[in-house]
Amino acid sequence: MSKDRIVLITGSSRGIGAASARLFAANGWGVCINYINNAAAAEAVAKDVRAYDVPCTTVQGDVSKEDDVLRVFETVDSELGTLSSLVNNAGILLPQSRLSGINAERLNKLLITNVTSCFICSREAVKRMSTNEGGKGGTIVNVSSIAATLGAPNEYTDYAATKGAMDTFTRGLALEVAGEGIRVNAVRPGIIDTDIHADGGEPGRVQRLGPMVPMQRGGTAEEIAEAIYWLASEKSSYATGTFIDLAGGR
Ligand code: NAP
Repeated sequence: MSKDRIVLITGSSRGIGAASARLFAANGWGVCINYINNAAAAEAVAKDVRAYDVPCTTVQGDVSKEDDVLRVFETVDSELGTLSSLVNNAGILLPQSRLSGINAERLNKLLITNVTSCFICSREAVKRMSTNEGGKGGTIVNVSSIAATLGAPNEYTDYAATKGAMDTFTRGLALEVAGEGIRVNAVRPGIIDTDIHADGGEPGRVQRLGPMVPMQRGGTAEEIAEAIYWLASEKSSYATGTFIDLAGGR
C-alpha cells in the first residue's frame, strides 16, 4: 500500500481514467477525479474511490483551457495536498475522416484537447514535483495510443498525429526532468472498450475490429490501468522516457 500518495487523473469520470482512479485508490492513493461534462459519472467513480477510505475530490475543468488547468491543480493543492503523480489521460476522437474532410477547426480542437492539455498539465505538475523547486519528485504518465505508431489511415490521422506529439513530448520532458526526481512515461493502448468510439462515430468499433487484432479481441480499461499504475508507482523506479504498448500484438 502507498501512503500519502496523491494522483490527479485528467478525464477520469469514464473509461481508462475511471478504471485507473479505482486502481490507484485500491492501492491506497488519494485521487483527484477530473471531468469536463459528466458530473454524475465523476461522482460514481468518487463513490468507488472513497470506499477504499482514501482522500478523493472531483473537479470539473476543461484541460484544453489554461485557466481551468490552473484551477484544477489549485483544487488538488488545497483539498488533497502534495501531488505525487499526474496521469495525462483526457483525450478525444472526432468522427472518422480521410484527410479531405479535415479542416483547421477540427485539427485545432484535437490539438488543444490532446496535446496542449498535456503540456500545460505537465508544466503545473513539474512546478510542484521538481526537486529543483523544493518538491519531492513524482511521476507523469501520458496516455498515448498505438495509433501514434500505426498512423490510423482513412480514419483518424489527425488523432494519431496528436498522439505522436504526445510521444515526442514524453521523451523530451523525461530527459528534461530526469535529474529533478521526476519520471515521465507513456502507455500506448490499442482498441479498448470505452465510450470514445461512440464519440468518434462508431459505437461498435471494438466489436468490428477486435477480431482482427493478433490476440483476436479488444482490451479493457482495467488492463490499461494496470500499466498506468505501474508506471506511476515506485515499482517502475528505473523507467523514464519509455512506452508500454498494450495493443494485443499490434
Ligand atoms: P472516454 O471513455 O471517452 O473518456 C474520456 C474522458 O475524458 C471522460 O472522463 C471525459 O469527461 C474526459 N474529457 C474529455 N475531454 C476533456 C477535457 N477537455 N477536459 C477534461 N476531461 C475531458 O475515453 P477513453 O477511451 O477512456 O480514453 C482515455 C484516453 O485513452 C484518451 O487519451 C484516448 O485517446 C486514449 N486511448 C483510448 C483508446 C481506446 O480505444 N479507448 C485507445 C488508445 C488510446 P466527461 O465524462 O465529463 O465527458
